[in-house]
Amino acid sequence: MSEARIVRAPRGKELNARGWQQEAALRLLMNNLDPEVAKDPDNLIVYGGKGKAARTWEDFDEIVNMLKELYSDETLIIQSGRPQGAFKTTKDSPRVIIVNAQIVPRWATDDIFWELERKGLTMFGQMTAGSWIYIGTQGVLQGTYETLWALAKQEFGSESLKGKWVLSSGLGEMGGAQPLATTMNDGVGIFIDVDQTKIDRRIKGKYLDMEAKSIEEALRIKDEYLSKGKPVSIGVLGNAATLYRKLADMKICPDVVTDQTAAHDLNLGYIPEGYTVETAEEFRKSNPEQYRKEVYESIVKETKAILEFKKMGSKVFDYGNNLRTRAKEGGLNNAFEIPGYVPAYIRDLFSIGSGPFRWVALSGEKDDIFAIDEAIKYHLGYDEHLVKWLNLAKEKVKFQGLPARICYASYGQREKIGLIINDMVRDGKVKAPVAIGRDHHDTGSVASPFRETENMKDGSDAIADWPIINALLNAISGATWVSVHHGGGTGIGNSIHSGFVLVADGSKEAEEKIKRVLNADPGLGVIRHADAGYDKSKELIAKGVKFKRPYFK
Ligand code: NAD
Repeated sequence: MSEARIVRAPRGKELNARGWQQEAALRLLMNNLDPEVAKDPDNLIVYGGKGKAARTWEDFDEIVNMLKELYSDETLIIQSGRPQGAFKTTKDSPRVIIVNAQIVPRWATDDIFWELERKGLTMFGQMTAGSWIYIGTQGVLQGTYETLWALAKQEFGSESLKGKWVLSSGLGEMGGAQPLATTMNDGVGIFIDVDQTKIDRRIKGKYLDMEAKSIEEALRIKDEYLSKGKPVSIGVLGNAATLYRKLADMKICPDVVTDQTAAHDLNLGYIPEGYTVETAEEFRKSNPEQYRKEVYESIVKETKAILEFKKMGSKVFDYGNNLRTRAKEGGLNNAFEIPGYVPAYIRDLFSIGSGPFRWVALSGEKDDIFAIDEAIKYHLGYDEHLVKWLNLAKEKVKFQGLPARICYASYGQREKIGLIINDMVRDGKVKAPVAIGRDHHDTGSVASPFRETENMKDGSDAIADWPIINALLNAISGATWVSVHHGGGTGIGNSIHSGFVLVADGSKEAEEKIKRVLNADPGLGVIRHADAGYDKSKELIAKGVKFKRPYFK
C-alpha cells in the first residue's frame, strides 16, 4: 500500500538515537527516501527499477523506532527490508546487519522472485537502496567520468578526452550523466535521445550544453569545438538505430561509441524505429508481440552499426544495459564482439582495490564536504586525477539530500581518507560525524558475470564466495552496518553483492575500525583479483601491502 509522506533526514548535532552509529543508520535510511534523492519515495523506491529502502511503510516506521531505541552494544537485523529483531552483541559489532532479496539459486528467476515480492515476502534492494547509502546522481556521474578517463588513458594514452569525440544515446536517469562526464574529461560528445523532454531536462540541469536540430548540425558543431580544442556536449532528437546507421553509412568514425538506452527492458526501455514515446505506447498496448519484434529489429540495427564503427577504428563498449544480450537474442550472433565496460576499462582499477568510495556529512552542512575536499587535496595532492575530480565535483555537482562526495579511491587511499575524516571530526573541523561507505559495484564485493565479473582472467565470473566473505570480514572488522544483496545492477539470478557503512565520529575506537575496515575491504578486492591472475594485484601484494597472503599464482 502506498502512502504520500515526506521523509527527510534530520540534520545537525542533536541525536535522535542512543549513539552516532544508530543515528547515522537512521539518517541515511531517511536520506534514501528524501524526495530530492529517491525516484519514487511514496512507494519507498530509491532508484534502479524497484530498488527499495524498506519493504513497507510499516517496516520503515518500525526500523526507525528500533534504531532510536537500539543500545550501542546491540545489533538490529533487517531481512529483506523488514526489521526482524535485535540482539545483544558487542560495542564493536555492526549496529545493523541487512540481507536483502536472497533466494535459493534454483528459485532465483525473475518470475519466482517477483511473485514472492508481490506476496510481501521479500524486497528488491538494488545495491545502495536497501543498504542505505545511495547519494543521488553524483554516483553515476563519477562512475561515467571514471570509465571515460580510464578509456582515454588506455586507448589514447591521454589523461583526458581532449580532441576526441564520443557518440552515445539515452539521456535518462543514468544515461543523462554521459554528456557532463564527457565534458568533465575535456571531450566532445553527441548524445541521441528519442524523447525531447529528456533533452530539455538535461539542458536545464546543465548536464547537457546544447541541442542541435539535426545530426548534420551536431556534426558541424562537433567539428568546430574539436578544432578549437574545447569540450562540448550536443543533444540530438532521434532514434539511435536510425542515426547510428546513418552515421555508419556516411563512414563517420567517432573516437568512442556506446549506448545507454534502457535496452535491458524490452517493454519500456528501448523505443523502436519510427515511433515516438507516445506512439510507441499505443503500439505496445495494441500489439505487444509485433512491438517486441520491432524493438529487437531496431536493437540489432543499432548494434550492427556499432560493430561497423568498431571496424572503422572507434573504441566501442557496452555500458551495462544488456544491449549486446538483446542484440544476440534478436539474431546478431557476433554482438559480444563489443566488450563490456568493466573488463575493458574498470577491471584495472578494481585490481588495485579502486572503486566508488563515498562519504556523507551527517550534519547536513555543505561546508563539511568542502572542508573534507580541501583536506584530501592537501594530503593526497600527488593524485592529480583525484584532485581534478574533487575540483570539478565542487563546481558542477548539485547535492541531493545530505551533502556527500564520491571518488574512486584505491587500496591505501581509502584508509588515508577515512583517517583524515575521523581526525577532522575529532578536531571540530566538521560539524558532526561523517558516514563513510561505498557502492556494492566494487573491487572485492560483487559477483556479477554480466557486469563486474564479466570475463575474469581465470573464468571465475560466477563464483560468489567473495561478496559473502567481504560482508563477514567487514562485520567482524567493525563496520557500522553491513549488507548482502542479490540481483542489483543486472537483475535477479545474475548477481550477489555486499556493502558497508562506517561512521567516523572522531573517537579512538572509530580510528581503529577505519584502520581495519578500510584496509580489509579493498584488500579483499586485491586478493580476489590476484587469485584470478591479475598482475597489478600481484604486484601490489609483492610490494608488501598490509595483509597476509600465503601464496598467489
Ligand atoms: P532510463 O529509462 O531512465 O533512460 C533511457 C533513455 O533512453 C530514455 O531517455 C529514452 O527516451 C531513451 N531511449 C529509449 N529508446 C531509445 C532509442 N531507440 N533511441 C534513442 N533514445 C532512446 O534508463 P537509465 O536509468 O538512464 O539507464 C539506462 C541503462 O543503463 C539501463 O539499461 C540501465 O540498466 C543501465 N545502467 C548501467 C549502469 C552502469 O554502471 N553502466 C548503471 C546503471 C544503469
